[in-house]
Amino acid sequence: MEPDSNLILPNIKLLTFAELQAFLHQHGEAAYRAEQIWHWLYDKWINDFDEMRNLPTALRQTLQAEFRAFSLRVKDKQSATDGTVKWLCELGDGLCVETVLIRSGKRNTVCISTQVGCQVRCVFCASGKNGLKRNLQSCEIIDQVLLACQCLQEKVSNIVVMGMGEPLHNLENLLPALELLCSAEAFGLSARNITISTSGIVPGIKKLAELQRPWNLAISLHATNEEQRRQLIPDAQRYPIEEILAACQYHSQRCNRMPTLEYALLQGFNDSAQDAARLARLAKKLHAKINLIPCNPGPSKHRAPTFSHCQRFQELLRQAGAKATLRVRKGDSIQAACGQLQERNQ
Ligand code: SAH
Ligand code: SF4
Repeated sequence: MEPDSNLILPNIKLLTFAELQAFLHQHGEAAYRAEQIWHWLYDKWINDFDEMRNLPTALRQTLQAEFRAFSLRVKDKQSATDGTVKWLCELGDGLCVETVLIRSGKRNTVCISTQVGCQVRCVFCASGKNGLKRNLQSCEIIDQVLLACQCLQEKVSNIVVMGMGEPLHNLENLLPALELLCSAEAFGLSARNITISTSGIVPGIKKLAELQRPWNLAISLHATNEEQRRQLIPDAQRYPIEEILAACQYHSQRCNRMPTLEYALLQGFNDSAQDAARLARLAKKLHAKINLIPCNPGPSKHRAPTFSHCQRFQELLRQAGAKATLRVRKGDSIQAACGQLQERNQ
């Protein structure tokens, strides 16, 4: 199918506020129109310039001819009984990514993708199965957040950058997206409510540290020694654990946030008492909390231990003095959990 011609135009969200003002100035429009347009885009999450009711018709037509207001087309939407929603979003070039909304009490968290596919190719993860297709543009990242707001008819409270892709391999587009989402004039979300998860891309962690933004950092560790970790993450994209932990420490010093160590529990592989003891030691040294994720069925033979085993593992961590949470599975019936998002295109 031919992509909609409307999708070929540049997305207006690629413009900074100053650039939008300059565009309006060139077209003989008053500067305050920029504020009105931003209000429609980031507070009302509208997808169509025609809905910007306080703009003159001529300006709406100019915008329509020059830009598109939204970069995603919902190709499929699945809702689970626990309130989790998963979208298959088609991009302008026909490629697809998945976005998930997770509802828990007052919290509405959107889990966003940053790449189509992923070049890290962790063995247990569906997103990396076919390698990387391309990076998402900043507007494609932002629009996933706005899609969740449209669905809720409410602003999301949290963003986790834990969908498809390795966020630190696409900082070029992720950073402008997050700046916009945190800017008070645009979406206005507190940076503290955003978590970026990485497989441990050291240069990217250092770069984030230097920016000194209070975004939270989660490191997908999954293993406590090099030998174990190399069986999960191929050599090409894997940094040594020591270097990752040093970069993480640097990040928490600069940004003043407590890091999280994510640990996918894989039955018979990294779930022994010795693994728990080593993990607790690492986490305490780093002043990090641990988030245990029972392995979701994916491309590898790895599976989760029984729930009671996961609880015992958590208990061992706690007894050793580490802070540990065990992730409750959400959106099971629609395969919306960690590592199950993929570039499904049917
Ligand atoms: N690329 C980033 C963020 C996306 S993956 C990263 O790897 O951190 C989000 C989380 O899901 C990571 O911790 C990842 O290791 C985990 N994950 C991937 N596949 C999984 C699976 N099959 N079961 C459980 N967790 C998985
Ligand atoms: Fe990429 Fe993260 Fe999946 Fe690894 S777990 S393949 S880094 S998306």
